[in-house]
Amino acid sequence: MKTLKLEDLKNLDQQDPLSEYREAFNLPKNTIYFDGNSLGPVPKTTLNNLNNTINEEWGSDLINSWNKADWINLPQTLGNKIAPLLGAKAGEVIVVDSTSINLFKVLTSALRLNENRKKILSESTNFPSDLYILEGLNRISNNQYECVLIEDDDNNIEKYIDSSTAVVMLSHIDYKTGRISDMKKITDYAHNKGALVVWDLSHSVGVMPMDLHNIGVDFAVGCTYKHLNGGPGAPGFLYVRNDLIEKVTQPLSGWLGHSNPFAFDREYKPANNINKFICGTPSILAYKAVESGLNVFEGISMEQVREKSIQLSEVFIELINQECDEFEFKLFSPNDSNLRGSQISYMHENAYPIMQSLISRGVIGDYREPNILRFGISPLYMRYEDVWNAIMHLKKIMQSNEWDSSNFMVRNYVT
Ligand SMILES: *Cc1c(COP(=O)(O)O)cnc(C)c1O
Repeated sequence: MKTLKLEDLKNLDQQDPLSEYREAFNLPKNTIYFDGNSLGPVPKTTLNNLNNTINEEWGSDLINSWNKADWINLPQTLGNKIAPLLGAKAGEVIVVDSTSINLFKVLTSALRLNENRKKILSESTNFPSDLYILEGLNRISNNQYECVLIEDDDNNIEKYIDSSTAVVMLSHIDYKTGRISDMKKITDYAHNKGALVVWDLSHSVGVMPMDLHNIGVDFAVGCTYKHLNGGPGAPGFLYVRNDLIEKVTQPLSGWLGHSNPFAFDREYKPANNINKFICGTPSILAYKAVESGLNVFEGISMEQVREKSIQLSEVFIELINQECDEFEFKLFSPNDSNLRGSQISYMHENAYPIMQSLISRGVIGDYREPNILRFGISPLYMRYEDVWNAIMHLKKIMQSNEWDSSNFMVRNYVT
């Protein structure tokens, strides 16, 4: 293979059809950001949107804004902005609560739809919160469920699905390896066996096209603060296929999920649409930041985003092979770009101090146990040139042993 040069990468940047979107974000100078899969950067319009909400809507119109500024419908309005990114229909997605809480709700809904079956399948490598929620749900259900956590390096989920399986609950993209699960294949197989599926899309929304409705996915959840750039701790979203919405129930039956909250009825009567998944009052300032994040995606082709994500990742891996071959970074993500989401993970015995050293140089990725350097790839604002510069920093850190300093060994609470 021919040697890659900085010039080649600058050429790729010039031909990049998405290059203009970088302008939509506030990115600090001298920072190369590989952590958009943990916390996306702030869109330039967010500050104005929040200012307007605080000064005009909250400040001047006060409580009128629930009607006048349509605050009350933001969970659905924003859900409908996310829907095209998922291949979902209007009315199938709602922005509400957190991803973990949404998982609790839809997992319960799915189990109630399949109440004669007691087996729940997931993977031992799934995101810990997802497994904790599963465990917690089972505990308050008197441990009536058999939770099977698959440990299978071949990712051969189908062979564990059988006629006793109630629900298959998986992450679409694995948070550590970045491996993509075959949503269509697994969903089809589960449905053939009479099982329902719950997908966690936290790492796939905003970086790859999806086709939830056509595939027939039953339930899904995901984050808005990662690739959707909705702000730290922004509310999550959930999806329910439209033909299930009317018949499902969810366990957190709060007043705003009522069909007519302002009737203040003594009896709970759920809304007959996706609103039934709302529990309490939405946090409007947080929603407004999500709105600005989602507006950036208007008119963007997710196919193009995915194409750039793959190209950036291929260049990243190629440059590590070319420039850092001697330093024993072992690719932990799939080598095949079709199986890899928008992140690249490497194993290295000194992963933690190496990442701290990179961060001190403004190259921000993150660390995951036990020895993983994780680099999120964000096609909307990442340049090919950034990848070059990041790898050059890494090479210098390794050549000079700069990482081998007590400063970089101290573990932060958030890694
Ligand atoms: C980030 C992430 C979450 C986060 O859940 P919160 O409730 O927002 O803290 C959940 N699941 C997966 C797979 C994630 O990657």
